[in-house]
Amino acid sequence: MILGGIIFFVFGSIIGSFLNVVILRYNTGRDVIRGRSSCPVCRHELGFLELVPIISFIFLRARCRKCLSKISWQYPLVELFTGVIFAAVFLKMNNIPNSLFLIPYSLVIFSVLITIFVYDWKHKIIPDGLVYGFITLSFLNTLFLIPHSSFFILDLLAGPIMFLPFFLLWFFSSGRWMGLGDAKLATGIGWFLGFSGAVSAVILGFWIGAVVGVLMLLIKSPKRLTIKSEIPFAPFLIIGLWLVYFFGFDIVGLHLLLSH
Ligand SMILES: [Zn+2]
Repeated sequence: MILGGIIFFVFGSIIGSFLNVVILRYNTGRDVIRGRSSCPVCRHELGFLELVPIISFIFLRARCRKCLSKISWQYPLVELFTGVIFAAVFLKMNNIPNSLFLIPYSLVIFSVLITIFVYDWKHKIIPDGLVYGFITLSFLNTLFLIPHSSFFILDLLAGPIMFLPFFLLWFFSSGRWMGLGDAKLATGIGWFLGFSGAVSAVILGFWIGAVVGVLMLLIKSPKRLTIKSEIPFAPFLIIGLWLVYFFGFDIVGLHLLLSH
């Protein structure tokens, strides 16, 4: 069990290193699979020892070996975090039926989410290709993989139900309060977590986003700030999803309410 967790952590950190490349090259026309990684400043091609997840960053002391320019903290953080998520998925699912299929399926979904998280944080946009992939995988998850509960119809409708309020916010604010990408992401969250879980995730996302937003306003000079232009929302929705998925947070006791 512990060993399995460690193996999945190491595997996850390697995948995280690949996700960093995807985030860097997505929508740039560069090949995501081929092409060696290099220092963005001096073009020095990275050797094997400079590509070891997390560890290389520490030994290089966050600098390029050749030109000493700084390496972003994004790299080790994404590697570390992907490792933690992979280990957590393994520990959560290794005892359930069909885990041999469900674990890799979930790892793909979480890899897509981590990529959306960092991409939106950096560029304030959710790439369509990624979010449509997430929606499709989540819908199939609901349709085939989750044991059909008594709320099956509600869970089946959870995608569109979660989409609607975000879409209205986007529509009536002309995209100032909420991006259309957030509405698409919420659709996937609806199908991935089911109705009550998705509602909890969105509420958690709003709370955490509000706290972080206020902190950022306090740190930065409060000039002409609109929520959308300053703070990407997808990362908070995804944090909400993680909290519900891994810790079973049930904010409004909605599930309980619906069970009666
Ligand atoms: Zn360099």
